[in-house]
Amino acid sequence: MESTVSNVLADDIVVEATFDHPPSVVWSALTHGAALSRWLMEADGYHAAAGTRFTLQGTPAGAWGGVIRCKVLALVPDRLLSWSWRGGSLLDTKVSWTLSNAGRGTTVRLVHSGFVMPRDDAARQTLAEGWRQALPRLGAAATAAAPGLLAGGCACGAIRYEIAGSPVGMSDCQCRDCQHRSGTGHGSYLTFASRQGVRLWGEARQWSVTGNGGTVKEHHFCPHCGCPVYLTFPAMPDVFVIHAASLDDPGRYQPQYLLYAMRGHAWDAVDPALPRHETMPPPPAG
Ligand SMILES: [Zn+2]
Ligand SMILES: [Zn+2]
Repeated sequence: MESTVSNVLADDIVVEATFDHPPSVVWSALTHGAALSRWLMEADGYHAAAGTRFTLQGTPAGAWGGVIRCKVLALVPDRLLSWSWRGGSLLDTKVSWTLSNAGRGTTVRLVHSGFVMPRDDAARQTLAEGWRQALPRLGAAATAAAPGLLAGGCACGAIRYEIAGSPVGMSDCQCRDCQHRSGTGHGSYLTFASRQGVRLWGEARQWSVTGNGGTVKEHHFCPHCGCPVYLTFPAMPDVFVIHAASLDDPGRYQPQYLLYAMRGHAWDAVDPALPRHETMPPPPAG
């Protein structure tokens, strides 16, 4: 893989911006045509596969109709992306994106290279200004491109997460473990089948307990404020479960069923319309 960082020349355009989204979300806004059209230019034929040819509709200037002809040259998901970028009859350049972790977010470094000076000077100046204006819009597009992004954490903010993806289940559980941990009649959980879209910040402490069904559950909580945030399962390393109240927007939680109804207390009434399981059917959710 070529390096876009070590080859920067004096005539290259370099623009950097840091966004409050994990790399997977920024990547999504960079690699989906609909998202690209929102924050950059109308894209036609674009999808993230090496060799894909696509066009961008820029602003016409003089005899040039504004069409930019591009091709995906290389990509490493969530890390690197490069396109060729041809406009008019002469401009033959290259755009490379490098994504890197920056605290809770992502730093995007754009390098637009290959200008032949002084021939391309006017185009270079226009593009430099264009990139400086466009790149900040990538952040908003990232949010729009990932409507499923869930964020949350503990009460004091020491533990944070972001999850790009949808839960495979949302459930209330009235088992004794969940009563102890919640301090009330039941716990409420969102279960994710994959940890691929999960990003975590902060050092949670954990304790393990074996559920009635024999499943070992690791409860992760904040060592400062004590709030339970998420659960993992040694026997199912891909499964990731968060506590509904840890969401920044707990309204995103919409329970689909009730677990361990047999342990429920008369004073802990849950929606009687919820499908009930007397114990715990798979998948685990607390
Ligand atoms: Zn905390
Ligand atoms: Zn439970």
